[in-house]
Amino acid sequence: MRATMQNVPLTLTALLDGIDGTFGDSEVLTYAGANAVVQAATFSEIATRAAQLANGLAGFGIEAGDRVATFMWNNQRHLEAYLAVPCSGAILHTLNIRLTPEQLGHIASHAGDKIIIVDASLLDTLLPALPLMPELAALVIAGDPTDAQLAEVSRLVPNVIAYEQLVNSQPTTFAWPVLDEHSAAAMCYTSGTTGDPKGVVYSHRSVYLHALAVCTANVAGISSGDRVLPIVPMFHVNAWGVPYASLMAGAALVLPDRYLKPDTLVDMIITYGVTLSAGVPTVFNDMLQWLRRNPGHRIGSLRRVLCGGAAVPASLVAAYRDEFAVPLVQAWGMTETSPIVTIADVPADVTTTDQQRKLNSAGRFLFGAKGRIVDEAGTVLPRDGRSVGEVQVSGPWITGGYHGGVDAESFSIDPDGQPWLHTGDIGHISADGYLTLTDRAKDVIKSGGEWISSVHLETTLVGHPDVVEAAVVGVPDTRWDERPLALVTLRPGSAVRVEDLKAWLAERVQRWWLPERWAVVGAIARTGVGKYDKKLIRQRYQSGEIPVTLLPR
Ligand code: ADP
Repeated sequence: MRATMQNVPLTLTALLDGIDGTFGDSEVLTYAGANAVVQAATFSEIATRAAQLANGLAGFGIEAGDRVATFMWNNQRHLEAYLAVPCSGAILHTLNIRLTPEQLGHIASHAGDKIIIVDASLLDTLLPALPLMPELAALVIAGDPTDAQLAEVSRLVPNVIAYEQLVNSQPTTFAWPVLDEHSAAAMCYTSGTTGDPKGVVYSHRSVYLHALAVCTANVAGISSGDRVLPIVPMFHVNAWGVPYASLMAGAALVLPDRYLKPDTLVDMIITYGVTLSAGVPTVFNDMLQWLRRNPGHRIGSLRRVLCGGAAVPASLVAAYRDEFAVPLVQAWGMTETSPIVTIADVPADVTTTDQQRKLNSAGRFLFGAKGRIVDEAGTVLPRDGRSVGEVQVSGPWITGGYHGGVDAESFSIDPDGQPWLHTGDIGHISADGYLTLTDRAKDVIKSGGEWISSVHLETTLVGHPDVVEAAVVGVPDTRWDERPLALVTLRPGSAVRVEDLKAWLAERVQRWWLPERWAVVGAIARTGVGKYDKKLIRQRYQSGEIPVTLLPR
């Protein structure tokens, strides 16, 4: 029997209906620096401007299926593009502003971007990449470029127009088409931490379902009573779906634009009473250090912080809980998974030790997502909290391939038709469903045939009061094939010695895991999205650029 239900596609156009009928008065604030006037608009105003933007883009010949890229901070105009581009049937391609010109050129050409909307404050960063994008038809500049910048881009791109001019000259309504929920809405390239960037294409349906999942109480529990500060960039996996989830829920958004230093973020949280935020551990670690140096700032309006993108040290979670009563909740995911797949939300009825284990894991699978651990021979391993293998995931917001069909070996389909993404992350799942990640496949340290978890060593090391950051990579060793090299940055003025750090670790991890090679450095190399660049660290070690202290075993 067929169901009697109406067949309404799950597309982002529903967001416009929601704004129109329900949440038109909700606010979006874009920060402009301490004491500066924020840019403020209601959802209704943003929806109207999105219609104008869609008209403007159509005027440049943008049609369904065309790629429109953004090169922008988290701000109101970026949100307008988040609505206008997919809802008009085109595909929003968020370019990562921290990539090299070569990477940007490659990605924009590979995606077939026709137009880029760029923040004027980022023009100088984009400029060197423009000659590598021969198919680019137009550049839309949001903000005020200098005359010199304008002259330069006009030489490189056939059409250059100011965002406000494009928007203001257009009708305030757009005939939003009825779209197929499986059609592409947005795309994002992996940041290439472990290889070449690969394109992931999100459908309307996948973005819709993922954002709904983010709204659920186990994940972010977003409601119209929230003020949400997405610190994670809107060019990084759609800011983890947080802007779309906020639009769905009618939650106010506070967008940080380019003001990402701890003092300005704290100012935003306090001034606007931010209740929910999301970002990588580095951001919240920097904020913690700042809050400790500048006591008296109350960030207690935060009822939850989603933290992920890299392992979240237990010490960071504990510091926010104990010093500020702010719950930092760890999530795991990747560009390929929209991104959130697991969340370390803790049930109420657990003992304290159990609570710690759960809080410090990557969490449990969201409703709708499935996960399993598989060994190198392809055998599914038991959920026993011990059996370590590759994490594979399946679900409606998980990609089943890459744009252009590259890297097909990362995907498989079971005989019963269930599709799986092979994530390249290594870990185990406990009997009660908590995922713990021990490494990425390309970063694992195999010492004498056994795995050492670099992630565990790093999160333990940053628990030391003098350690600010720690990265551990595997380096060649004649006796054991590979051994860990620990890089640390220390608190200013710290007199701690690497011998002390080794002794600290010795009380907390297996003896044979203890690194012999140590380096205290000024900064640890990071990738475009702020993760430790382990590829580069290994290269630098090989070429002797890292000053290593060798301790006896
Ligand atoms: P890239 O793969 O280029 O680093 P992504 O942003 O897609 O770009 O990163 C996804 C990866 O980040 C995951 O595969 C995983 O290795 C890591 N990651 C994300 N969240 C966590 C977490 N909570 N704990 C440990 N690692 C994480």
